[in-house]
Amino acid sequence: MPATNSLKELHQTHQQLEDARHQLERGPVQIKARESIVRKREKELEDYHAELKRQKMFADQKSLDLQSLEKKITDLKVKLNSAASNREFDIFKEQIRADEMAMSVLEDEILEIMERIDSETARQEEYEQNVAKAKEDRDAFRAQFETKSRELHDTIQKLEKHLASLERLLPSEPKEQYRRLVASRGAKAMSAVSNGACGNCYVNLTPQQRIQIKSGVVLFCSSCGALLYIDESQEP
Ligand SMILES: [Zn+2]
Repeated sequence: MPATNSLKELHQTHQQLEDARHQLERGPVQIKARESIVRKREKELEDYHAELKRQKMFADQKSLDLQSLEKKITDLKVKLNSAASNREFDIFKEQIRADEMAMSVLEDEILEIMERIDSETARQEEYEQNVAKAKEDRDAFRAQFETKSRELHDTIQKLEKHLASLERLLPSEPKEQYRRLVASRGAKAMSAVSNGACGNCYVNLTPQQRIQIKSGVVLFCSSCGALLYIDESQEP
């Protein structure tokens, strides 16, 4: 068995498989994230309409207050003209003055609310566009992921086939241990030797272990248990 190169390929295949499966799992999570943005934008639009409605009702209420105040002042003016005494005249005059002041304050308030309503009304399109854009993003991502997921399924199928063909090259005795490791750790079941040490846990190999690995013996790291191999492009 050309141990070192095929073990390296075996490890790379595990890594590629893990990566492809990870991308496949992430897709639905990313779609969900975009769906929650859509809901958030829809809620903002809804709140915007509710607030606008509240402001309009507020303005209507103030206009009614203004009308009744106007009516009150008109009545007071009638009373003023038929005042029975100077004292009564002064009282009515004072009430009219106070009510006219209140009316002026109320008019300012109404103007302010109206201005707010105008500027808020102008923002409706902005809120609607935010919703539309969030939906577009979600739909575009979903369509893109549908294509990608078909590609990923194909890739995974090919990698699994390739993996099986590489695994057939492993001697039967270490194969069982290898299978258990892969089942629990995935691609981390294997490790390239780097600078004479295990690339996973950095424990140094003995010179004898390196010779054994180079001569095709399948060895597991004495510390982390990973199946070791020498990457000839890095470790001559
Ligand atoms: Zn190790």
